[in-house]
Amino acid sequence: MRDRFLPFAQPLLGDEELRAVLETLSSGWLTMGPRVEAFEEAFRHWVGCEVAIAVSSATAALHLALLSLGIGTGDEVITTPFTFASTANAIVLTGATPVFVDVDDSTLDIDPEQIPARITAATKAILVVHFAGRPCDMARIEAIAAAHGLHLVEDAAHALGARYRGRRIGAASDWAAFSFYPTKNITAAEGGMLVGSDRSRLREVRELRWYGLSDDVWERSKTGREGGLVVRPGFKYNMSDLQAALGLAQLRRLDDFNATRKAHAELYTERLGHLEEIRLPEPGDADHESSWHLFVIRLDRSRLTLDRAAFRAALAELNVGTGYQFRSLHLHPYYRERFGLEAGDFPVAAGASDEVVSLPLYPKMTERDVLDVVEAVEDVVSRHRV
Ligand SMILES: *Cc1c(COP(=O)(O)O)cnc(C)c1O
Repeated sequence: MRDRFLPFAQPLLGDEELRAVLETLSSGWLTMGPRVEAFEEAFRHWVGCEVAIAVSSATAALHLALLSLGIGTGDEVITTPFTFASTANAIVLTGATPVFVDVDDSTLDIDPEQIPARITAATKAILVVHFAGRPCDMARIEAIAAAHGLHLVEDAAHALGARYRGRRIGAASDWAAFSFYPTKNITAAEGGMLVGSDRSRLREVRELRWYGLSDDVWERSKTGREGGLVVRPGFKYNMSDLQAALGLAQLRRLDDFNATRKAHAELYTERLGHLEEIRLPEPGDADHESSWHLFVIRLDRSRLTLDRAAFRAALAELNVGTGYQFRSLHLHPYYRERFGLEAGDFPVAAGASDEVVSLPLYPKMTERDVLDVVEAVEDVVSRHRV
């Protein structure tokens, strides 16, 4: 057993990040300014998209994406229940109704087959989540969206660096939202990026991000122009230069980070494959290259004498932290009660909610750490076989 606790997730920060943040502090400009602009530009190039707008979180990015598409009261947005609260919360916060579609049992991504039956005259968009970093079947979903005249928005919080048919997630999206929360593939402490392909929506989203003012304070300080006319009631969703400095330094290391995630995921797959009591994540293929944000195993409850929570507790006793992604949203009190949902409405998502355990997977881990987790999982399984 390990002598030190291995957290479920941890960012990898070095001298470059420290220097970038200290330089920003010394510069005297802390809020949204030159570093946010530089981060947006570098991110835009890295993803290969037309537009990148830095914001305070992926949650804010999703909210702005939906608002910019004119989605609001009376509209419906199709989405997955097997996701973090933000995805559906962003829909509800616009006044629209989230319409859940169950997930595919092999990938836990939204099941495209079941989307058409949920489309009504009120449907305005499909909001997909690339669960754990494995891209959804975008060709199928794009075809459905096109056939019904729907917008397509991507919650890409897990999918930074993932590729669908060779193209980076976000490179050809209506809108895709990325997160820089500390557990994600790179961090800015907090923060998000909204990327898209339509330059005509750029100004409106920038205004919504910054109080609804017609231009931002950094622009004004450069030009000496007066500004700041309220053109709509906006939010305070901007990123600070302090965060952007951190994000920029992390972005330079993203390819290395993702290569390590992939290597660790492959090692898990190789070493855990012999356990019949757990199911490993889909490895991906040429069309679906994962960013390996998470390594989610699923417990075969018929072969084990302990449930998901007890399994996690047993691993914690062996000094291995784990995560829980996710409890399906239709099992949460707000969504269950407000929309009258029952567990059996989305049986795959409900079942998976009792089976999923996220193992530690991040570039700060060594191969030895991965093997420690493997040993701990083997130990817990061997002691709790039916
Ligand atoms: C982390 C996460 C979010 C929220 O990201 P924030 O930047 O914390 O707002 C949204 N969706 C999914 C699927 C996530 O995992």
